[in-house]
Amino acid sequence: MSGDNNNPFKIAQKQINDCADILGLKQSIREVLLRPMREFHVNFPVRMDDGTTRVFQGFRVHYNDAKGPTKGGIRFHPEETIDTVRALAAWMTWKCALLDLPLGGGKGGVICNPKELSPQELERVSRNYIKAISAFIGPEKDVPAPDVYTNPQIMAWMVDEYCSILGKNQFGVITGKPLPLGGSPGRGDATARGGMATLREAAKKVGLDLGKATMAIQGYGNAGSYAASLAESLFGTKIVAVCDSKGAVCCKDGICVQDIEQHKQATSSVKECKGTQEISNEDLLAMDVDILVLAALENTLTEKNADKVKAKIVVELANGPTTPEADEILFRKGVHVIPDFLCNAGGVTVSYFEMVQNASMYYWDEKEVHEKLDRKMTTAYDEVYEKSVKFNINMRKAAYTVAIGRVVEAMTLRGWV
Ligand code: GLU
Repeated sequence: MSGDNNNPFKIAQKQINDCADILGLKQSIREVLLRPMREFHVNFPVRMDDGTTRVFQGFRVHYNDAKGPTKGGIRFHPEETIDTVRALAAWMTWKCALLDLPLGGGKGGVICNPKELSPQELERVSRNYIKAISAFIGPEKDVPAPDVYTNPQIMAWMVDEYCSILGKNQFGVITGKPLPLGGSPGRGDATARGGMATLREAAKKVGLDLGKATMAIQGYGNAGSYAASLAESLFGTKIVAVCDSKGAVCCKDGICVQDIEQHKQATSSVKECKGTQEISNEDLLAMDVDILVLAALENTLTEKNADKVKAKIVVELANGPTTPEADEILFRKGVHVIPDFLCNAGGVTVSYFEMVQNASMYYWDEKEVHEKLDRKMTTAYDEVYEKSVKFNINMRKAAYTVAIGRVVEAMTLRGWV
């Protein structure tokens, strides 16, 4: 995930510096923004099914808590690195600030391959990781959530472990929980639904009729699969290509989202789904479509392939899918990029709603969550778009100026800088 050229934290730091130049921030403020405030490296033993013990390595980074408790997901990935977690924690800081949530940014990760663990081993990894970081989390300190290869069941095990350490229930320590354990209605598809709200606004700006548009989706996990069904059901957009880590498929007349869903359930891949032709993952990125959704991992569009993008709008549901070099190329080409920490902020926004509901012990219905989410996403999109036009900068730089401006304001008021 973090090759030398595309180290995500180096990229995150470059983005901070670029924004600091635009805002004319003094050196001492840059210094604070460029580094995580705290980070924890943990090694914890887990009993495997065969009776042996394996030591797993995990991280939790509190990037900046000027605006409130740090917030961000936990990734389980074989190629997780501390620099990836640092970058993701920085991006969470800007994401929460951009959506005007009273939260800071954090992130966690465990180096492991969940596909190679039994359900029992996965439960023990989840519980022991939380045990290892339990002193550093809490509803007023740091609140984890799901991310790549973690899900509501894993959050349930984690919250149970935390509550047993505490000796009482405190569901607000983690979000993205199942509904019966204090989860919020609407959290499951929140990342994709929030992204679709920003796509709707972007389409108005570029004059694209979503009912006649075509879409290719890179990545078919939680965000990518919900993006497919929501784009179809909300706007009537035609999905013409999808891919996952195992391969890509396309169909010019439109892919049946239900078929893909069933095929992925049955075979754990989108490959060889009926009614589709096989293409390469790289071909998908260069397809002649109106909308390209990036819903996988970091560094998908780089200086090597950005020039081939034909889409009018790039929807960044993943974190960090576009490198700064690719950003420049896309801007020059006139592609409208909805930057990650705006586009995928629906997840953390509904996580925040979950925290509010947990704290008040009163639960909203799904309609209320959808309405509140839509309002938050639309407001944030408008603020970013307005800045990008005013200063003639790309949408990512515009999003940075809004978000970092708010974090700096909080740090200044607190007397830190
Ligand atoms: N992992 C998601 C993200 O990257 C959600 C984080 C959260 O809900 O705290 O935004």
